[in-house]
Amino acid sequence: MDDGAAMSVVAIDFETANESRASACAIGLAWIEAGRVTRREHRLIRPAGMRFSPWNVRIHGIRPQDVAACGEFPEVIAEFLGDIEGGTVLAHNAAFDVSVLRQTLAAYGMRLPAFSSICTLAVARRTWPQAPGFDLASIARHLGIRFRHHDAGEDAFACAEVALAAARLANGGDVRRLDRRDILPQAAPPVGAAPPRPPRHQAAAGRDRGDSLRFTVRGSTGHHYEVVGEIRGGALVTSCTCAAGRNRLRCKHILGLFDGCIDALLSDNVADVERLHRWRLTCGPAAMVRPAR
Ligand SMILES: [Zn+2]
Repeated sequence: MDDGAAMSVVAIDFETANESRASACAIGLAWIEAGRVTRREHRLIRPAGMRFSPWNVRIHGIRPQDVAACGEFPEVIAEFLGDIEGGTVLAHNAAFDVSVLRQTLAAYGMRLPAFSSICTLAVARRTWPQAPGFDLASIARHLGIRFRHHDAGEDAFACAEVALAAARLANGGDVRRLDRRDILPQAAPPVGAAPPRPPRHQAAAGRDRGDSLRFTVRGSTGHHYEVVGEIRGGALVTSCTCAAGRNRLRCKHILGLFDGCIDALLSDNVADVERLHRWRLTCGPAAMVRPAR
């Protein structure tokens, strides 16, 4: 059989209804064949529980009434699982979209299929280090890709075009030869499973870098806030300079970064958002909030 002849290459983008990655409310897909986007799809999804956070609705504009008559995740994803299984999935900030896929499948007791993933955020950072920013809107603007941000179908299309542009520079256009990561099939985790312990070398690396991550984010009113996450005594301690953060609440800026959302991020440290996310997973749910300085 010809190598990978039947394997799909598809860019995927999820929107979520709330801070949980198991709350997918939209999926967009853009297929790549022979160096161009050949098919685009967009589906709304009715999330279990139907809980929409105002923060998420403000980002993507999808409201409960928009999805009330839509299928739930198993029904929607069934149409596309054959393309994902054994295929190559592209996503901008792939850690987020892969984790939405993984956690929403797990919430329905479904198994994660095996596939390769390519993060176009990481690809963009390496390919165009001089770009003014690496979030999807910035890099698309830098490359002259026109799209309507935060529509899942449009975001998937833009992600596919970023990958195609990078592949054209790197290797004559084969997206599958960009750096990829194998995602192994995974059963749904047992309910109440303990979070994984941080490997010792990872904790040591954090200490070397001061165990502290600092972010600047733009609030919904345009104000700029400072979010800090640090490891103290094995717990992840966070703070934000916004009003809620000063009141020791886990504000939407902290939750957004926990969720891997980089849309409000002003500081140029997208990779640190992924580190913060890993810290949160390895430190477990005992994370504390301290008042902002
Ligand atoms: Zn805040």
